[in-house]
Amino acid sequence: MTQSESSIFVQVAIPVPLRQLFTYAVPQALLSSELTIGERVTVPFGPRQVIGIVLSISESTDLPTNKIKSVVSRVKDNFHFDAPLLQFLQRCADYYHHPMGDVCQQALPVLLRQLKQPDVSLPVSWVCSNQPDTAKIEALKKKASKQFALFELIASHPSITWAELRTLGFTKTQLNALENKELVEKKEREPVIFKWRESSLNENNKLKLSVEQAVVVSAIEQTNKRFSCHLIDGITGSGKTEVYLQAMEEILASNKQVLVLVPEIGLTPQTLNRFEQRFNVPICLHHSGLNNNERLQTWLEAQRGSAAIVIGTRSAIFTPLHQLGMIIIDEEHDGSFKQQDSFRYHGRDMAILRARQLDIPIILGSATPSLESLQNALSGKYHYHQLLNRAGQSTTSKIELINVAQHQMEFGLSDTLKSEINKTVKRGEQVLIFLNRRGFAPAINCQECHWIADCQRCNKPYTLHQNKQLLMCHHCGSQKRIPHQCDSCGSIRIKPLGQGTEQLEQRIDELFPDYSCVRIDRDSTSRKGELAKLLQEVTDKKHQILLGTQMLAKGHHFPDVTLVAMLDIDGALFSFDFRAAEHMAQLLVQVAGRAGRESKPGKVLVQTSYPEHPLLQDLVNNGYKHFAEYALTERQQAYLPPFSFQALFRAEANYPSYPDKFLREICNHQYEGCELAGPIPAAMEKRGGKYRFHLIVQSKSRKQLHQAIHRMLLHIPTNEWNTKVRWSVDVDPIDLSW
Ligand SMILES: [Zn+2]
Ligand SMILES: [Zn+2]
Repeated sequence: MTQSESSIFVQVAIPVPLRQLFTYAVPQALLSSELTIGERVTVPFGPRQVIGIVLSISESTDLPTNKIKSVVSRVKDNFHFDAPLLQFLQRCADYYHHPMGDVCQQALPVLLRQLKQPDVSLPVSWVCSNQPDTAKIEALKKKASKQFALFELIASHPSITWAELRTLGFTKTQLNALENKELVEKKEREPVIFKWRESSLNENNKLKLSVEQAVVVSAIEQTNKRFSCHLIDGITGSGKTEVYLQAMEEILASNKQVLVLVPEIGLTPQTLNRFEQRFNVPICLHHSGLNNNERLQTWLEAQRGSAAIVIGTRSAIFTPLHQLGMIIIDEEHDGSFKQQDSFRYHGRDMAILRARQLDIPIILGSATPSLESLQNALSGKYHYHQLLNRAGQSTTSKIELINVAQHQMEFGLSDTLKSEINKTVKRGEQVLIFLNRRGFAPAINCQECHWIADCQRCNKPYTLHQNKQLLMCHHCGSQKRIPHQCDSCGSIRIKPLGQGTEQLEQRIDELFPDYSCVRIDRDSTSRKGELAKLLQEVTDKKHQILLGTQMLAKGHHFPDVTLVAMLDIDGALFSFDFRAAEHMAQLLVQVAGRAGRESKPGKVLVQTSYPEHPLLQDLVNNGYKHFAEYALTERQQAYLPPFSFQALFRAEANYPSYPDKFLREICNHQYEGCELAGPIPAAMEKRGGKYRFHLIVQSKSRKQLHQAIHRMLLHIPTNEWNTKVRWSVDVDPIDLSW
């Protein structure tokens, strides 16, 4: 370009994994309307064109102007990031040391990232022109009766849509003819904006709060719509949702929007129903089950302000909401709020950041708060509210341990458990059996030489899927046919080893032939709509025995389940991951919470080989809160989070020496106030054919941790192993196992 062409430059965030912005010149021809920060532009990048976001505008640049390329075009629609949202995204990028271009990309609906512009127009309606030519109307009356009828209809029903006209029997040709004669014209149908004030609440469906609940609602109201973080630590059935609903009332009544984040599979039709029945307001959903078009629509409704409530999973935190007045995070402890690849953000933590930025209240709720949130509450950083009583007459279910070493076992079920299942189904009640291992068997082995069929790319046993007649690796997804012979000794005595949900389902059918058993796991619900269908069948009592993985522990409400059995929890007691016990306890309490609602007492039976384990004993005898406080003291003594802060560098390559050397090179520098642990091989050292190494950076000061990461990233371009590995940095990692 030449200087005379333009004197406006833009710095653009581009969806590439590079930690920098790119400068482009804006040709005069594109400056007919004012450039705004946050708008989308098409720019050349290498051999292709990409959509980028304008992050700043300047009249000069230090770069040699002959090297600067020009913006190709500006995306002419109204859907740009506004300043507060852009500022929020920048903070997310800074916090996670992640390229801003990729952060912007992930925050945009897929259809707005593409060069081809989606149809984002508002529903169009039709009205008569201001001063229609009467002579033309007279002409129609004589020569084109259909067109005349159409004109009359539009005249008497202004703002009628094409869809409505079509159902009344008119054709597009007739409509176009009227438009060409300038008798009718299009009009964008007015979006409904912030008009729910008058009648947002359905008083009829409002429940009377218990004293406990009322105290929480009023404490939230007293924070006066300013930033404040509230942790509601309430046992299952204590009515957290009712507290959310009543806390939202005032916000909606003042024409503000509410964002509700739920775990990935926690959004049930029951949850949605409660919001819909309580408020006469537009509610939009945002979750992975929607198609691109539906997601774009939610985004647009939110941005236009026609959505009063947005309910969604973690990425809904990036929804543009101009009038956001409150954020609610249900089941805040849930691991699905953390994204585990590329941009590794935590939806809950970013929600707190956004609430602080907008100076609005945020509510975190859980029956089993994460130790991070609990510590913040106990130390007074968050407002801490406990709900200790179950609503209605239901009683808390009791957890009992069954020592599997002392019992006769059949198909992984102890005789005590079998007889309890029998009694429960005979009473006409339901049983939930929980086994966190899908597939038929976690391995197959040779009965003669004990060879195990391993995935060569991960060095881990293949899981047997009998229904599909396949061996599948749950780590890399690879599949192969079931071998007839042992690879090692040639024997044909190959048998499944251990038990997964698929096998247990068969065994239960054999043991309880008079009752129906339904399996709910990722395999049985992979088809769209299947989960909802199976859950409905459970509610309709078509099945007496429910069997599933942790999918069943989340949010679903099974009023007739009075017995919950957990078959396999011992792994978590001895894990190297310091969070494993916390996660096990959360799972146990959540699963226990599925039982004994609706005034029927529930019972929880846990099979373990280690009934004397102190953590288990503490949890069973003293409850989650006690367990959590004990676990917090342990963490404090070991300087583990939340008493220190961590970042995890992961590196992988085809040879083990590369990631090791790459991470070692990072360790060669000094980082003030930080301890480095590693490099060490990851718990799963090989996955999908790659060797994987970890380096943990830990500090008691968050600031020093961030400074260290910043310096580490500066060194990486000169790291001689840089090009030989794939690496990532994970700030506040929650899963060290992979
Ligand atoms: Zn063999
Ligand atoms: Zn594999």
